[in-house]
Amino acid sequence: MGIKVAKFGGSSVADGIQLTKTKQIITQDPDRRYIVVSAPGKRYESDNKITDILYLCKTHIEHNLPYDQLFQVVADRFMAVQINLGIKVDLFRYFDEIRENLKQNPSADYIASRGEYLNAVLVAAFLGYDFVDTKDLIKFDAKGKLMMPETDEAIRAELAKHERAVLPGFYGSLPDGSVKTFSRGGSDITGALVARAMAADVYENWTDVSGFLMADPRIVKRPKRIHVITYRELRELSYMGAGVLHEDAIFPVRMAGIPINIRNTNEPDNPGTMIVRADESHVRGAITGIAGKKGFTAIAVEKNMMNSELGFGRRMLEALEECNVSFEHMPSGIDTMTVLVSDHNIEGRIDQVVEKIRRTCKPDHIEVISGLSLIATVGRGMVRYPGTAARIFGALADSGINIRMIDQGSSEINIITGVESADFEKAINAIYNAFMK
Ligand code: ASP
Repeated sequence: MGIKVAKFGGSSVADGIQLTKTKQIITQDPDRRYIVVSAPGKRYESDNKITDILYLCKTHIEHNLPYDQLFQVVADRFMAVQINLGIKVDLFRYFDEIRENLKQNPSADYIASRGEYLNAVLVAAFLGYDFVDTKDLIKFDAKGKLMMPETDEAIRAELAKHERAVLPGFYGSLPDGSVKTFSRGGSDITGALVARAMAADVYENWTDVSGFLMADPRIVKRPKRIHVITYRELRELSYMGAGVLHEDAIFPVRMAGIPINIRNTNEPDNPGTMIVRADESHVRGAITGIAGKKGFTAIAVEKNMMNSELGFGRRMLEALEECNVSFEHMPSGIDTMTVLVSDHNIEGRIDQVVEKIRRTCKPDHIEVISGLSLIATVGRGMVRYPGTAARIFGALADSGINIRMIDQGSSEINIITGVESADFEKAINAIYNAFMK
């Protein structure tokens, strides 16, 4: 028998209807032995996520405001599912225990983690699987950094005792035994850690979309689905904001070479997107996806004979560093150097940075260009294959879009173009259409 680790996100476990679909998916394949669950998410647009309500409980406790009704909302949602599906589990025992702990002003992490905890107890009973708490398996050091080898070992040792189990996502514990959560959306990381420890054949991540799309559907009409993507390509695309999966969920499985399969609980027959280490089945010259972000500023510096001036680049970057501003890209010419920074990063400090560059680099000219967007065209199919850049630039030119910046990393899987934000949507459509012909 193989091992598949399946993680179900908030929308897949939001209510009885969703949980019934989830159960069907799990029982369809006997290899789906280790199940990681999120806390129940939104059932409809204006609904609340259980985790958000739990954080709200903590805020109430901190302000000495009554929180019982809030916790009751949480309890009621679990009760409704239990009654709806006829699950045999004494939830009151768990609620009482949590209520007792809430009186002791516990940490936000403890309170937030109870959504996953209660849900895993409930889902385990629903499936007839063992419940295994991740609190003592996912280990953080005193500074809150994940201890990978210790976590690996603890998961493996515990799950060796369980043929099938449901585990809560999102949290583990600190050396003093207190609960510590990952950042929001962190159940993805739990799933990845379990898959890695158990050397799973695949890590399935069940959500409410059928994998990754080649472009943002709010910008491009009906973009095609990405069937296969490599970890590296995904890293490039998610850096630009194409997020379905928590960024830190990739590292544990990538190291172990375990593929991730993004699937849709509401469309289980769709094979979704497969994230793999390497893939040779791509079409040469094809692209995998396009992603972009608005909100960048360029600081362009010009100085005669810059190329032969020793230490110019260092001084320029030092000016940024001293103002605590990180940069995203640094395209340069013989006598010009530009740094691209995100607006968010440089907010309120542009004048300070410019002044510093002026003083330490003594440029002939310095210009600040705001309102820029970056677009990444990513694809393993473009490596050592001529013509990709020509297609991108041709498409932009044909649409009358001026390119403000170009950057291609040495990995050759990503071409980044900077355009004015007013051209952003048009540019993405132009590039997408150029490769769909
Ligand atoms: N429940 C947590 C959150 O809402 C973790 C997760 O769902 O992955 O962020």
